[in-house]
Amino acid sequence: MIKLSKKYDVIIVGTGVAGLNCAINLPEDKSVLVICKKTPDMSDSYLAQGGICCMVNDDDFEGYFEDTMRAGHYENNPKTVECMIKNSPQIIADLTKIGVRFERKADGSYDYTREGGHSRNRICFHEDCTGKEITTNLMKKARSKKNVIIVPYMTMLDIICKDNECYGIVAKDGKTGKLYRILADYTVLATGGIGGVFENSTNFRILTGDSLAICINHGVAVDHINYIQIHPTTLYSKKKGRRFLISESVRGEGAHLLDKNFNRFTDELQPRDVVTAAILKQMKKDGTDHVWLDMTKIPREEVISHFPTIVQRCLDEGYDVLRESIPVVPSQHYFMGGIRSDLNGKTTMQRLYAVGETCCNGVHGKNRLASNSLLESLLFAKNAAIDIKNGYCPVDMPKAKAAEKALSLEKYHNVNKLLKEYKQIVLNAIKEANENEQPDN
Ligand SMILES: Cc1cc2nc3c(=O)[nH]c(=O)nc-3n(C[C@H](O)[C@H](O)[C@H](O)COP(=O)(O)OP(=O)(O)OC[C@H]3O[C@@H](n4cnc5c(N)ncnc54)[C@H](O)[C@@H]3O)c2cc1C
Repeated sequence: MIKLSKKYDVIIVGTGVAGLNCAINLPEDKSVLVICKKTPDMSDSYLAQGGICCMVNDDDFEGYFEDTMRAGHYENNPKTVECMIKNSPQIIADLTKIGVRFERKADGSYDYTREGGHSRNRICFHEDCTGKEITTNLMKKARSKKNVIIVPYMTMLDIICKDNECYGIVAKDGKTGKLYRILADYTVLATGGIGGVFENSTNFRILTGDSLAICINHGVAVDHINYIQIHPTTLYSKKKGRRFLISESVRGEGAHLLDKNFNRFTDELQPRDVVTAAILKQMKKDGTDHVWLDMTKIPREEVISHFPTIVQRCLDEGYDVLRESIPVVPSQHYFMGGIRSDLNGKTTMQRLYAVGETCCNGVHGKNRLASNSLLESLLFAKNAAIDIKNGYCPVDMPKAKAAEKALSLEKYHNVNKLLKEYKQIVLNAIKEANENEQPDN
């Protein structure tokens, strides 16, 4: 059993790409505690199928910028978008350096694929399990670092803070039931999305926006909490639980969407929200609870080599994508809003950072362009690590201890009740934001 210290230099909450990339970019003389709710691979990062965007060359900057802004309804923060695009080749280089394998052509160059909303092929991928390939290598790297300790089954229940300064976290060990108050010079929230608060979602059910609720409780600014992306194509099922994603690159490679009479009804390569709206409209018109996706339009060899996970999962559900159309339906997929953060992941609270899907730095605007999320999470998490390193300043221990002492552990004993309350805080905030939103002109 791992014995936790009372204080670390940096605490990172989350073992997705954001948490791990922050951990491996922190200086090796800093002690780093990384925690996650269940096993480290239970993250949405691990599930990512399609790939990760990369600016192909300097000439691609304008096209990639425009595609991202158009998908985001021009509500994106242009500075963040520019930063992400210009740094994308470096992020891909960082990943290949730690062993991530992206598909390549015979001449060794990347074999880019395409997804909805992109005006050209610019997505690096590894079969249809890019997230697993990236996360596994990041985890290997993080585990090789002597200064980094990864603790599973440890749920953050709150932050320790006073006068808008963060001093660490309250966490509960899911195996022993023990509660901890752990101090840190810096705390990084990398807790992913909010799919767990919705009935139908592609996300792991454990991702319930805890950080978001905690930040709302402590007056840390959050933005666009109602900007929620619905993915157009998840495998239709009557069973409860996480919805299985049928990656956008399937449509990028030529799959067609069909109505109840097996006729095409929309351009499959439009941005996600537009395709989702078209599917929902068609379902209503047809009186059905799904539409069809026809992958037989893609060359057979391409389907087998590029989409093995999808082929197998559909077979498990009784569908042979090589021969027949499969039923698909839109489901909650991604959260564009979140804890307000700048280009370095800084929140409005001192010593508190937020990176990855839980944060909102404006890069996605109102709707995320496909395959921009892994990239964004990796880049701004790395920026956060560099920012912590450059401005490193230990906490005032007497102040931190006073904040810790003032915090009673009483309300944290019933975790299920507390997490339920957090879920409700998130749902209420979404409802309120929707009510306050002006309708689009
Ligand atoms: C099915 C699917 C396919 C996708 N495909 C792509 C794709 O092809 N390309 C792309 O760019 N994006 C894709 N995405 C989106 C992308 O995977 C995520 O947005 C991104 O990986 C988020 O990374 P993250 O590190 O912020 O969070 P995650 O990877 O979700 O990690 C969250 C971590 O936080 C931990 N956590 C949460 N709450 C607590 C708590 N209270 N205490 C302790 N730990 C906590 C969890 O245990 C987990 O370790 C996909 C998403 C899904 C669901």
